Amino acid sequence: MNVILLGPPGAGKGTQAKRLVAKYGIPQISTGDMLRAALKEGTPLGLEAKKYMDAGALVPDSVVVGLVKERIQKPDCAGGYMLDGFPRNVSQAEVLDGMLVELGQKIDHVVCIEVPNEELLVRLTGRLTCRSCGGGFHLKFDPPQKPGACDKCGGELYQRDDDNEATVSSRLKTYADSTEPLINYYANQGKLRRIDGVGSMDEIFGRVTAILG
Ligand code: AMP
Repeated sequence: MNVILLGPPGAGKGTQAKRLVAKYGIPQISTGDMLRAALKEGTPLGLEAKKYMDAGALVPDSVVVGLVKERIQKPDCAGGYMLDGFPRNVSQAEVLDGMLVELGQKIDHVVCIEVPNEELLVRLTGRLTCRSCGGGFHLKFDPPQKPGACDKCGGELYQRDDDNEATVSSRLKTYADSTEPLINYYANQGKLRRIDGVGSMDEIFGRVTAILG
């Protein structure tokens, strides 16, 4: 099963993807995570991507398309995969469609998780991640017991560079301008399912799995 998780930054795509990986046994392919990993390693690609990420803009298509093309051909993707944060605009979706034809694959479901902008802003600017285990917390909704430390492993919690208010506003605008048109793109292909992304993690997981089966 090949799935695309669509939705604005902060909609919970990454959180749900991690739970879906466990349920369906297919890997999560997050272009944002791949770019952050490249940046952490200090590769030329990562350093090039940083200026776009810091500005809340999209990294050039040529960069992300190459990453995805390589990734979906890895053996662990043979039984399917979950794309999280890709495609991000219509031209990436068109390139993806071409790639899938070439590989004899298709997208089975596109699930769009919808959350109002006011809530996204609060979610994103309070988001905290553990440097050691990758666990997620939130300053307001899910604060760690000890400020700055992960409840699970004691690791240091950090805020993503692009989760500050100015960059979050740009990311939401980029979503509205570039990514939202994908809703029509996939609706026209008859693949789009929209779900309400407001609620508990379990409720939203239930909504997604009701679609994926
Ligand atoms: P994310 O972790 O999905 O919120 O992505 C963080 C940042 O990485 C975005 O704001 C973009 O700058 C960049 N990025 C991630 N995925 C893509 C993509 N498919 N196309 C272009 N830029 C991307």
